[in-house]
Formats: sequence, structure tokens, C-alpha cells
Amino acid sequence: MVERVQLILLPEQAADEQALRKAAAGMLGIAPSRIHGHRIVRRTVDARQRQPRINLSLDLYIDQGAEALPSEEGLFSYRDVSGKPGVVVVGAGPAGLFAALRLIELGYRPIVIERGKAITERKKDIAALHRNQGLNPESNYCFGEGGAGTFSDGKLYTRSHKKGNISRILHLFHLHGAQDEILYEAHPHIGTDRLSVVIRNMRETILKMGGEVHFSCRMTDLIVKSGSVKGIRTSDGKEWRTDAVILATGHSARDVYHLLSCSGYVLESKGFAMGVRVEHPQALIDSIQYHRKERGRYLPPASYSLVAQAGGRGVYSFCMCPGGQIVPASTSDGELVVNGMSNALRNSPYANSGIVVEIRPEDLPESMRKEHGVLAGLAYQQSVEHLSYNNNGGHGLAAPAQRLGDFVRSRLSPTLPSCSYLPGILSSPLHFWLPEAIGHRLQEGFRQFDRKMHGFVTNEAVIVGVESRSSSPIRIPRDRETLQHPMLEGLYPCGEGAGYSGGITSSAIDGERCAEAVARQLS
Ligand SMILES: Cc1cc2nc3c(=O)[nH]c(=O)nc-3n(C[C@H](O)[C@H](O)[C@H](O)COP(=O)(O)OP(=O)(O)OC[C@H]3O[C@@H](n4cnc5c(N)ncnc54)[C@H](O)[C@@H]3O)c2cc1C
Repeated sequence: MVERVQLILLPEQAADEQALRKAAAGMLGIAPSRIHGHRIVRRTVDARQRQPRINLSLDLYIDQGAEALPSEEGLFSYRDVSGKPGVVVVGAGPAGLFAALRLIELGYRPIVIERGKAITERKKDIAALHRNQGLNPESNYCFGEGGAGTFSDGKLYTRSHKKGNISRILHLFHLHGAQDEILYEAHPHIGTDRLSVVIRNMRETILKMGGEVHFSCRMTDLIVKSGSVKGIRTSDGKEWRTDAVILATGHSARDVYHLLSCSGYVLESKGFAMGVRVEHPQALIDSIQYHRKERGRYLPPASYSLVAQAGGRGVYSFCMCPGGQIVPASTSDGELVVNGMSNALRNSPYANSGIVVEIRPEDLPESMRKEHGVLAGLAYQQSVEHLSYNNNGGHGLAAPAQRLGDFVRSRLSPTLPSCSYLPGILSSPLHFWLPEAIGHRLQEGFRQFDRKMHGFVTNEAVIVGVESRSSSPIRIPRDRETLQHPMLEGLYPCGEGAGYSGGITSSAIDGERCAEAVARQLS
């Protein structure tokens, strides 16, 4: 017999199989020896009370051995698509990769075109970034195999439950090498180190099934005939002919927005967010969140999620990375952008998070709106990234930084605490040079955060500039049903860069949706 039970346990009980089974047996009023096995269905940490608890949903195998779960391969019907009609997928980020894998299931041959390098080569460029030895504009934290998702934190939590089958996405990550925990943790997380393996395995599946993946190959133009896309041109001078192009180029491919805009294809401006990354000692966040001096062995590094309203705009934490590291996420020289990531074990002594301010199209300076029209948000983003770069004293990717308490009180920081950002940080008055629409709201937002999480605003924490690529300021429109651009039959704007997702899981979901739309159209 298989019985599902819900348990609320102390962290040390939840980590101990015997204690766990004893508690479950007690709940059912049976002898622990009758429980032959168990499977965790869901696990959450509840730290709202002084004593944190673990909520567990368990399947118990009573008087019988654990049943083998249905094979994961069976969930996905991959088949050989060699010789089948080709569909170009531009971009090998989560949206592009999941689109390619879904196309295979639907009987189409994905031809993935990626401007950046394969992971092994890309790692070398990332290492050079960490050593502050220059930026490769085609291979960095945003561009390359796996897109912005590869060297990310790999948090898979998403709020967009309505748009697709999240469980399918998690199983697909798992099938390609992600850890078991992502299938039951309430806030699943893979980690940068593990993601590299998972993404490589996804490429192997695409190739094994007859698809193609081309690296260091940048789309430079669309081939269009009478309002229909007929393929793309790439930086190596090649033409790729096809009736369907999934455009999954992410929000950092500014050249793609310019290409579409200059060719007269309609784009829309949308709200986005910008701010800074804040980093605290992980032990401090643990002590605030777990109401105790030390986290101990059985609790994971604590996280937080904070929201405030300042000057009529939202200020919120974004992509919080417990036990993580701040990383340089610039894609062009002369711009300074930061982001955050962590490894699977989340074992660094730092906790970082983006803290961003909502920016609406009407918040942008009038002059910028006049000059850049629909691309004004992009120009604004870029101008703040330039500001950040120009305030680092000419030290390449070393980032301007300020102690958090000093920032909130508009004071200079004569010294800085240690920080995980490897290219280095330099003291800079961010309160002074950040645009008012961002800086003042951040100051107010931090004050409110401190009221919710006492001790959050402290000079032990540091803010690092700037977190500017949390979302796209532009939407590439598409028809609600066919998912094609209204002016370009056969073009399927997809993922975060097109404005339809935010984060790994929702981008993966959108990739699958676009593949399905292509199959409907071509069938
Ligand atoms: C450091 C970091 C940490 C992050 N952590 C998380 C996290 O923990 N959880 C989460 O959900 N999200 C996280 N994100 C965000 C997440 O990575 C993105 O939301 C997601 O990758 C978007 O997927 P996408 O496929 O739409 O675009 P992208 O991942 O941006 O992929 C676009 C791809 O298109 C390629 N491309 C662009 N232009 C061209 C062209 N002209 N020709 C050919 N190829 C092109 C790019 O090289 C890139 O590989 C993080 C991002 C970063 C940078």
C-alpha cells in the first residue's frame, strides 16, 4: 500500500531517515517496521516561527517495497528527425534549447544558431572576466551555449504557472542530469557547476536525434519575401533557408532589436527594472531569517524575498542567491553590469540579491524618448551601464560599490567589506551618481526592507553597480494564437528577449510553446 502523508518536522528530524519514518508511523498509528520505503513529494522550509520547521509531503510504502517510478524517458518522445523539415532556432538559451528539444518531439529538425561558444570554450572567457582580463562581446555570462541560463544560479522557481507545464520542464532538466531534489523542493535550484553538465547533455540529445547546433554563428539578418520569413543570414556569410524561425536571442542582444527596428518591423516598449546587487555575509541573513545565531547543519542557507513601494514604483529583491557570488554580466566594452549565481551546494560565505526599481516607459527622460523612440528603454539601460563603468576609476570590470548603510544615509564609504565579486570592487558614491529615479527609490526601498528584516541595512553589506539586465525593456510583438510576429509570417519571437518570460523556467516554457506553434503552422 502507498500512503501519502504530510509531516511538519524539526530540521534535524527531517534529515534523519529513522526519525522521519518514526514520525510518519506515529502519524498513521502503525509500527515503523511496516514502512519499507518512502519518497519525498515536496519539501519546504517554514522559517516564519522562531523555530524553523520542514514541511514534508511523503509517499510511504507500507508492507511493500518502494515502487519504481515511471521512466522519465517515457515522458518525452524523442525520435530521429534527420531528413525532416528544418526549423531555425536563433539562440541556445533556455528558450532556444527547450524549443529545439520540443521540435524534435514534434518531428521537426532544429537548427540551432548560437553567436557564443560551446560551454568548454565559454568557460575560458568567463575565467578571463573573473581575472578582469577583458571581455569577449560574443562569449560571456549572457552569450554562449545555454545562454544567460548556464552560469546562472539555476533557480527554477517561477510564478508563471498558467502558461505551461512546469513539471515537464523540471523533468527535462532532471533527465539531462539535474539533481533529484529539483523534483520536490518548493524552490528548486540546480547551481552553475551542475548546469554546465545539464546544458551539454541537452546539446547531445539534439545532435543525437539529428538536429544541428552551430556555435560562434551570429544571426545578422532575416531573409524575408513578401512579408514571410524564409530564413536567416549569419556572420559567417551563410544563408539558412527555412519557413520558420524561432527568435530566442535573450534581452542582451541589442543588435537584434536594432536590426528589427531598422528594418521597419514593429516593436513595443515595456516596463523593466534596474538597480544594484546587494551582498551580505550569509551568516547574517541566516541569523535574521532563522532567528538564531547560527544556521546549524540541517537548514539550507537562508534566502529572502522583499518588496517595497517608493515614489509610486515597486522596489524589490530579484534573483536572490544564497551562498552565491556576484558576477560580471556585461556584454560590451564600456558597460558595467552585475548579476548573481551560485553553485549547487550554495556554500560561499555570501548572500547576494538584485535589488531593482520598476521603470515604466513614461519614466524615461523625455529627450531619450524623442531620440530613440521605442528603443528608449534600451538606451536608458545602456546609459546607466556606462555610468557604472565610468565610476570604477578605469579599472575594467572592477565594479563601483558602497557599504549599504552608507548608501542609505548618502555617505561615502572610506573602506569596503570583503565581497565575492572577483574582478574587484572600488568605493564609489552610488547615492550620488545613480539616476534619481533609481537611487532615491532604492534608498527608500532599503529603509522599508530594514523594517521587515531587522538588520538588513548594515555596513557589513555592500551594494555593487549595476543590476540592469533583469528584464527586457522591449517586447517583440506576436499574435496570441499563432505566436508569429504581426508583420512577419514565420517569425516566432520567443523567451525573455522578446518579452514573454523572465527567468529560466518561464523561458523554457515559452520555448516549448513556440515549437508547438511552429508545428501547428507547418503541419
Ligand atoms: C548570472 C545570471 C544568473 C541568473 N540566475 C537565474 C536564476 O537563478 N534563475 C532564473 O530563472 N533566471 C536566472 N537568470 C536569468 C535567466 O538566465 C534568463 O532569464 C534566461 O536565460 C532567459 O532565457 P532566454 O533563452 O530567453 O535568453 P538567453 O538565456 O539570454 O539566451 C539567448 C541566447 O541567444 C544568443 N543570441 C543572441 N543574439 C544572437 C544572434 N544574433 N545570433 C545567434 N545567437 C544569438 C545568445 O548568445 C544567448 O545564448 C540569470 C541570469 C544571469 C546572467
